[in-house]
Amino acid sequence: MPNNAKNLRKCAVCRIHADKSEMIRFVKTKDEKIFLDRSKTADGRGVWVHDSAECIQKLIKKKLLNTAFKCSVSESLYEELDGKREF
Ligand SMILES: [Zn+2]
Repeated sequence: MPNNAKNLRKCAVCRIHADKSEMIRFVKTKDEKIFLDRSKTADGRGVWVHDSAECIQKLIKKKLLNTAFKCSVSESLYEELDGKREF
C-alpha cells in the first residue's frame, strides 16, 4: 500500500502502524496543553493511538501519554477517556 504510506501512524501503545482513520490523536500544543484532538489536525506534537478498547485501556492504565509527551498529563484527560467508549 505505498500510496497510503503517508497516512500511516505508529500507535504509542502497541507500536504497530495503522492508517490515521483507525486511530485517535492526542496533541500537545505550544502552551503545553494536552487534549484529545478530534479534528486530528491541531497544531502541536501529536501522539497516535489505535481507536480500540485494548489500546485505549492500556494507555489509561499505564499512563502512556505521560511517556509519549514526556510530561505529566492531567488525570482529568485519562478520566475523560475512561468514560468514553466511542470517539
Ligand atoms: Zn495500538
